Amino acid sequence: MIEKVQNLIVGAGISGAVLARLLAEAGQSCVVLDRRAYVGGNCYDYKDPCGVIVHKYGPHIFRTDNKEIWDFLSRFTLWHPYMHKVKGYVDGQEVPIPFNLNSLYQLFPQQYAARLENKLVENFGFNKKVPILTLRKTQDKDLSFLAEYIYEKVFFHYTLKQWGLKPQELDPSVMERVPVFISRDDRYFQEKYQAIAANGYTALFENMLNHPNIKVRLNAEFSAVSKEYEYERLFYSGPIDEYFDYSFGALPYRSLRFDLRKMDLTQYQSAAVINYPNNYDYTRVTEYKHFLPLSSNKTVVAFEYPSDFKLGENERYYPVPGEKSAALYKQYLEAARKEKNVFFFGRLGGYKYYDMQTAVKDAFALALRML
Ligand SMILES: Cc1cc2nc3c(=O)[nH]c(=O)nc-3n(C[C@H](O)[C@H](O)[C@H](O)COP(=O)(O)OP(=O)(O)OC[C@H]3O[C@@H](n4cnc5c(N)ncnc54)[C@H](O)[C@@H]3O)c2cc1C
Repeated sequence: MIEKVQNLIVGAGISGAVLARLLAEAGQSCVVLDRRAYVGGNCYDYKDPCGVIVHKYGPHIFRTDNKEIWDFLSRFTLWHPYMHKVKGYVDGQEVPIPFNLNSLYQLFPQQYAARLENKLVENFGFNKKVPILTLRKTQDKDLSFLAEYIYEKVFFHYTLKQWGLKPQELDPSVMERVPVFISRDDRYFQEKYQAIAANGYTALFENMLNHPNIKVRLNAEFSAVSKEYEYERLFYSGPIDEYFDYSFGALPYRSLRFDLRKMDLTQYQSAAVINYPNNYDYTRVTEYKHFLPLSSNKTVVAFEYPSDFKLGENERYYPVPGEKSAALYKQYLEAARKEKNVFFFGRLGGYKYYDMQTAVKDAFALALRML
């Protein structure tokens, strides 16, 4: 039997869930499909038997300055306030990442660090974020030394591991995501609202999708079940190249492998995330217990190994920005514009790195266009 629905939404990740909720609250019927066995997309998390909540697709910290987004999500979860701090293992020490003035004083003799601090502030200002590629252009001898040090010890090998490319071979937008921070603020993010969903992100999205106008169907591949529905509009937050059967070629992504280890320890490391730019094959280690307080003598830790995305073998994580992929994506975008009543959105539909707040904003804008 064919089921009639106004909106068929592919993907129960944050993009699909927010869109469904907004359309449902406006009185429209929605079916949300996901080929996975659970909702939440890449924000999915689950409770390990020892009580630790594990983020299956990598550590997720919600952050935003936008009160509207914060208030909207707060309808579906309580929050655990959490200011994310990352450390990097550099020259045998754990220093704050992004590299900041505290990192500087930890790694250099105090007098020399003070000289470098003065020059950094003079040239770029206090509390300013400077992309490493900008810092490397400086003419000052001391700053140029510092720039090369940071480039080599923090960025170069990390980028090679993460992307399989040298920093200058990458689109500058990628390097700008982790700047050098001329500040004493050790937090990884500076947004006003920063938190972890207190009962997990999966519970947040289950609550969001719990509405009389929304039906969720899991383990449902769009191409396999779409004929069972008669819909007015299709919203697709899956990979845009896959939708068009890779007719122009596959869009490149980087993937990740998480080697998850359960340990009989109350704590494994001093911060939730420690980066290893120069040592080991993994890029970083996440200890999930830091995100939500829990008294347990066990902990769960993920060692993160980047690799190329291979269809059928691993997951898509990061789009690889650059001229070639932009040209390829443009071809898909043109094909998408010819589709009637089909809308591509989310990180895979838009082939963009979206953090959670951007995905929500994008879904807000799409809903507004429809209502
Ligand atoms: C390692 C890593 C860490 C991150 N950490 C943070 C963080 O700390 N803070 C932050 O704000 N953001 C973070 N992000 C970004 C965050 O993961 C994304 O913003 C978010 O996942 C985007 O959601 P989405 O719904 O667009 O896509 P997804 O979460 O990928 O959801 C898409 C869904 O569609 C389903 N689907 C796809 N195709 C089909 C199909 N054909 N049929 C049926 N179902 C289909 C998929 O199974 C999936 O569930 C991180 C990203 C990565 C890679």
